[in-house]
Amino acid sequence: MSDTAQFKKLALIGIGLIGSSIARGVRQKGLAEEIVCSARTHDTRRVAMELGVVDHAYEHSADAVKGADLVIFCTPVGTYGKIAEEIAPHLEKGALISDVGSVKKTVVDSIEPHIPEGVDFVAAHPVAGTEKSGPAAGFAELFQSRWCILTPSAKSRDEAVEKLSDFWAALGSNVETMDPKHHDLVLAITSHVPHLIAYNIVGTADDLEEVTQSEVIKYSAGGFRDFTRIAASDPTMWRDVFLHNKDAVLEMLGRFTEDLSALQRAIRWDDGDTLFQMFSRTRAIRRQIIDAGQETAETDFGRAPKGEGE
Ligand code: NAP
Repeated sequence: MSDTAQFKKLALIGIGLIGSSIARGVRQKGLAEEIVCSARTHDTRRVAMELGVVDHAYEHSADAVKGADLVIFCTPVGTYGKIAEEIAPHLEKGALISDVGSVKKTVVDSIEPHIPEGVDFVAAHPVAGTEKSGPAAGFAELFQSRWCILTPSAKSRDEAVEKLSDFWAALGSNVETMDPKHHDLVLAITSHVPHLIAYNIVGTADDLEEVTQSEVIKYSAGGFRDFTRIAASDPTMWRDVFLHNKDAVLEMLGRFTEDLSALQRAIRWDDGDTLFQMFSRTRAIRRQIIDAGQETAETDFGRAPKGEGE
């Protein structure tokens, strides 16, 4: 193996935004000698090959994993159990199996029972993404300075956790280890509920009769457009996230609804102090996110018309 290569052969199961970003990062940094993928549609396999992000694209995951010492599931989380069952007999002894799913408890429960003796499994979630999908949407820098949360189970060997941690660190991520159930609770409030709110508010605007569609689009800079970016995220991926993180999402939604009712009451009773205190507290959170390097303070981020700000 070359000096930088950590793995002989990386097999990506699914090659959309996340899979192709991993492939590009691994290629750029020389972390694996060979990169292959599997994808269910011919079109995705063709695009992945044309982009040059993989050396081979297979129709069947069982073919892709043969001889691979690192296998990463990059499909929607609802597909993991069936794929794990299909690939299990074809996994190489000593291989490390992982995933990128946005939910962790059900992912561990659906993959781990299929992992054969002599093969390691460590679940992971890179907390990085965009609203775009497909292999052409990926880019090597996606994981740079973003967190990747590893959620080892009681069966995960320390050596395997360390190997996966080194891999994500080499892709530019900051790595954290967490219990799968705790991960799901944290992500319910930082990612899953915000996506649900965005889907809901854009849906509500779409259903309004007294405000026309063209007005919603025309005046969207008032705040609405920021929700539409999130609400443009992949429907299959997000359907699976909500179905597989049900308990934590429902718990956080309960809290959210109570707090929303409190704001509703404050507006009804002209309680400006409550509103002002709440909005000041939330402004401070935004500042902390910028200070932590997870967002920029530029007000026109991503919105400058073509040619401006370049
Ligand atoms: P994506 O761009 O839509 O790509 C999904 C990939 O999975 C494609 O290769 C697709 O194949 C394949 N696929 C879809 N449905 C399938 C099925 N039923 N059976 C087999 N393959 C199927 O999605 P992504 O954004 O990369 O997300 C992939 C995973 O990353 C998800 O588990 C998600 O939770 C996780 N994740 C996403 C983000 C994000 O912001 N997007 C961030 C962190 C983690 P075809 O193209 O051939 O249909």
